[in-house]
Amino acid sequence: MELSNCPECYSLFVRTPFKTVCDTCHKKEERHYEAVYSFLKQSRNRTATLVTTAEETGVSEDLILKFIRQGKIQLANFPNLGYPCQKCGTLIRENKLCLTCSKDLKTQLFDLEREEERRQKVTEEKATFYTFQPKNK
Ligand SMILES: [Zn+2]
Ligand SMILES: [Zn+2]
Repeated sequence: MELSNCPECYSLFVRTPFKTVCDTCHKKEERHYEAVYSFLKQSRNRTATLVTTAEETGVSEDLILKFIRQGKIQLANFPNLGYPCQKCGTLIRENKLCLTCSKDLKTQLFDLEREEERRQKVTEEKATFYTFQPKNK
């Protein structure tokens, strides 16, 4: 058992892997979820964006994002919903980074590898040079 402060209202509660806020806030979240869910399940709202959903339901974007991350809201059903890329904040629907950022990351990794290769080559060349240095001259 781990006693901790509720991140929403700061009251003490027993934290479990499944319960990250206190009972009161959990109930409040559930109510918010109901609101979001009943809004989204109407077919004309299937294409709603995060901003619209937040405005229409009065639920904060952060909380809606939390529902998305928890998998309570299945993105597959809602083409215009998403969550921000961890690096630049662009709305994405899968992975943790947007395409641009993951490409950037790959390029950086690639550069790093090349740099490593280059350094290794230099070291090898130096080693070769010293080995074949003519002796007794
Ligand atoms: Zn609370
Ligand atoms: Zn990004």
